[in-house]
Amino acid sequence: MKLHFRNRIALHYIVATAIVIAVVFVTIFLIVKETVYANLDHDLNFEINKHSEEIVVRNDSIYFYNKKELEEREHQEVQVNPVFIQLIDTTGTIFDKSPNLKDEELKISSLQPDGSHFNSRFSDKLIRQVQLPVKRNGVIKGYVIAGMSLDASLILLDKLKNTLLILFPIILFGLFFISSYLAHRSIKPIRSIITTTNRITQENLSERVELPAQKDELYELSAAINELLSRIEKTIEREREFTSDASHELRTPLSSLRGTLEVLVRKERSREEYEEKIQYSLSVIDMMSNIIQQLLTLARMDSASDLNKQKKILLPELLDQILERYTAEIKKKNLKIDLQFQPEIDTQVPEYYSNLIMDNIINNAIKYSGRDASIKIVLKEIDGHLVCMVKDHGIGIRKEDQEKLFNNFFRSDALNHKDIPGNGLGLSIVKKSADAINAKVEVESELNNGSIFSVYF
Ligand code: ADP
Repeated sequence: MKLHFRNRIALHYIVATAIVIAVVFVTIFLIVKETVYANLDHDLNFEINKHSEEIVVRNDSIYFYNKKELEEREHQEVQVNPVFIQLIDTTGTIFDKSPNLKDEELKISSLQPDGSHFNSRFSDKLIRQVQLPVKRNGVIKGYVIAGMSLDASLILLDKLKNTLLILFPIILFGLFFISSYLAHRSIKPIRSIITTTNRITQENLSERVELPAQKDELYELSAAINELLSRIEKTIEREREFTSDASHELRTPLSSLRGTLEVLVRKERSREEYEEKIQYSLSVIDMMSNIIQQLLTLARMDSASDLNKQKKILLPELLDQILERYTAEIKKKNLKIDLQFQPEIDTQVPEYYSNLIMDNIINNAIKYSGRDASIKIVLKEIDGHLVCMVKDHGIGIRKEDQEKLFNNFFRSDALNHKDIPGNGLGLSIVKKSADAINAKVEVESELNNGSIFSVYF
């Protein structure tokens, strides 16, 4: 059977409640039954003890000495809580009995110990009974038996039992509907989550689940779904950006490559010409793979594994590794690298993002410096913050371009340094990485005089 979630909650609640109610009802019934019997037994004890003192034994006869009083008292009445009294000898001969017994007689039970209470019956009437031996000189001469009708008590217990039995399913049904209604109300926000998430497609990814007013588990669930949607939206956005940037930026080098190759196959060329065109084609291919590589870095930046992002490193160590990677370029241009830092600096930085930042800035300093130039890298601590400055004496950047340096594909004054390869993505990567670790990048530059890139970690 397929049950709604709310009914399942209600059912579980009801099963637990049913057990508790059943235990409570049975306990109530047993306590009332015990109390009723205890009262009856108490009354019977009182009666039998009272009458035991009024017994006279003469020869083989046993009788009540104030019979008149006995007859006058409640034993006359059969209906209202009657007490039946009977005197019987050891052979079973009845010597005396209360008038309310009429033709009936109380049976002696040899199985019951003297003074104990038990149920018996006469003429379809259930009675509570107790018997005591009548002794003279240590010899049992007979028994006095007292009995009381159980009718009233049994009616009371029956009524109680029926009431509890009727109440049991009624209470459970009532509770089931109430708890099902309450469960329905409390899972209402889930309905809203389902409706909203069903509505969300690629086209309206910015839509979010409405947060419930109460800050409970459902609030957390809605917030978690919203966060998940934000991440998915960002990923799709990145994918869109990547495909549009890639197709846009690769179109020009691809058509240039195609043009070069078409010209080359049109007629036979000299070996030098072939070499020159092939070299050019190779450089275009390098450039394209560089663009793809950097676009991928940008697109994957957010999805790099958390473990990778958490790794830390000492900045001097990271700078050494980066400079090591550019040894060939530095040698080729005969650059002088001056790395200055206080050895006691032991602040660590996030390796993944710091590497992307420093690698691109140092690469630019090398790329945009002339032969035999010097590059100064200074590392110091200012107000508890680690600052790394990379100063070159290269071509510098025009004032009006300095603001746009961090935009995707922006190259300052590109036509004037056509021979320096680049695609305008390096500083975009720097900016995005710095944002990811709350670092700040500042640029000071003068055209033809050099630039200083300062990173505040
Ligand atoms: P690119 O691949 O073109 O170097 P970047 O995003 O790294 O792309 O840099 C963007 C532009 O900023 C460069 O094209 C260049 O004009 C300018 N630039 C960056 N760093 C320097 C530098 N150290 N010296 C001179 N110009 C620089």
